[in-house]
Amino acid sequence: MKRPKAAEAGNLGMNNITVDQREKARGRQQRWRAAHPKEYVALHREASRKWKKANPEKHREWCRLHPDKHRTSVRKWMEKNTEKAAAHTILNDAVKAGRITRPDTCPCGNQNPEAHHSDYSKPLMVYWLCSECHKKLHRKDG
Ligand SMILES: [Zn+2]
Ligand SMILES: [Zn+2]
Repeated sequence: MKRPKAAEAGNLGMNNITVDQREKARGRQQRWRAAHPKEYVALHREASRKWKKANPEKHREWCRLHPDKHRTSVRKWMEKNTEKAAAHTILNDAVKAGRITRPDTCPCGNQNPEAHHSDYSKPLMVYWLCSECHKKLHRKDG
């Protein structure tokens, strides 16, 4: 009977474990990412901010090599975030002034709903949803 060489067997075993572990780790990461979209974005943003700070030349180089991408991403970020920030400010003011009533519960019954804007250009048109329903809704929208 021919047995595999110890080194080969060891290597195969090692590789199997590594691939398997890598798959599992990836699965865990994806599940975590799906369950914590906000945290994931924050982490990602933080990481890229750190990277830009640590590699300013590389970041500049990237911007220089991809001026269009750089411009579009900056513009998109500005548009998206100023509109979003403005919508939240307007809504918060309206809630404070009593023009909008924030319900105590989500339609599902959970407490402390948060505002969901279906359209940031209509800051007072909001759905009050708990974080679970809110996440579900965004996952559906994509
Ligand atoms: Zn939302
Ligand atoms: Zn809910």
